[in-house]
Amino acid sequence: MPLSQEFSKFCDLHLHSHCSDGTDSPTELVRKAKVLGLGAIALTDHDTMNGVAEALVEGKVHGVKVIAGVELSVESPSGPIHLLGYGCSTESQPLRDAMERIVRGRDERNALILEKLARLGKPLMREELAVSAVDGEVIGRPHIARAMLERGYVKSMDEAFQVYLKRNAKAYADRYRPTSAEAIEWIHRAGGVAVLAHPGFCKHIAVSPVELVDIVRPERLDGVECYYTYHTVELTERLLARCKKHSLLATGGSDYHGSTKPQVQLGIGAGRLRVPIELAYALIGASA
Ligand code: AMP
Ligand code: ZN
Ligand code: FE
Ligand code: FE
Repeated sequence: MPLSQEFSKFCDLHLHSHCSDGTDSPTELVRKAKVLGLGAIALTDHDTMNGVAEALVEGKVHGVKVIAGVELSVESPSGPIHLLGYGCSTESQPLRDAMERIVRGRDERNALILEKLARLGKPLMREELAVSAVDGEVIGRPHIARAMLERGYVKSMDEAFQVYLKRNAKAYADRYRPTSAEAIEWIHRAGGVAVLAHPGFCKHIAVSPVELVDIVRPERLDGVECYYTYHTVELTERLLARCKKHSLLATGGSDYHGSTKPQVQLGIGAGRLRVPIELAYALIGASA
């Protein structure tokens, strides 16, 4: 079977573009999905839906089903987690206001990090962070890590995170995060579906992935990202069973970021990821 025909049975519902901390444009993401032959994708940039319109247009041109999405960093009762919002209207005012507030919190935090770095003898200009110069780009720590690498302050982006940028590291600063309950409410008001992102890959969470699902579920959670680049087959199966038991939607994706995370590839993650296309159909049905 030709590669593209085989991949039409699969989708990737977790992608970042250069509108946040990925490096591909929304158009490039759609074209790469088309080349691979994926049946559907979702654009899920951090805290912005600025790339969604472009991805939808390109999806129509190439016959790739594109789902509008966003990934929000929120505070759950168990600690910081990520929520995916799918099928949200980009016109929803409460969601737009919330994203604006979160992005303002990022800008304040980035300024604090740059101050700390300057005090550590590693000054960076604000202008060095927005490498792709996209209007309204959401700037995160990966942009700071890349700028530090380009300046020769560190030998790798990972070193930048380990020594300076990860939680409690030398130049770390926290930022505003809404609660998970608030964010789920905004996603619902925008007509969307709220999904717990990568429960097996939440740093600073003391409970197990399945316990985390049970903790966020009463806040009117709609689904769980069961398939994920760094989930084991066993964890995916446990999460799928939990979804079945509680009538939650199952989703899955790679968390592709382009060259920000070169080890993660679109559609296949670290190589073995395959997300069944039926999950995309169910998601589209639920958010329609
Ligand atoms: P922020 O949104 O600014 O809090 O930054 C979070 C982003 O940094 C996420 O996309 C993470 O995957 C990424 N990140 C966290 N740790 C590392 C690391 N060691 N190397 C590269 N990226 C990382
Ligand atoms: Zn990211
Ligand atoms: Fe995430
Ligand atoms: Fe992500």
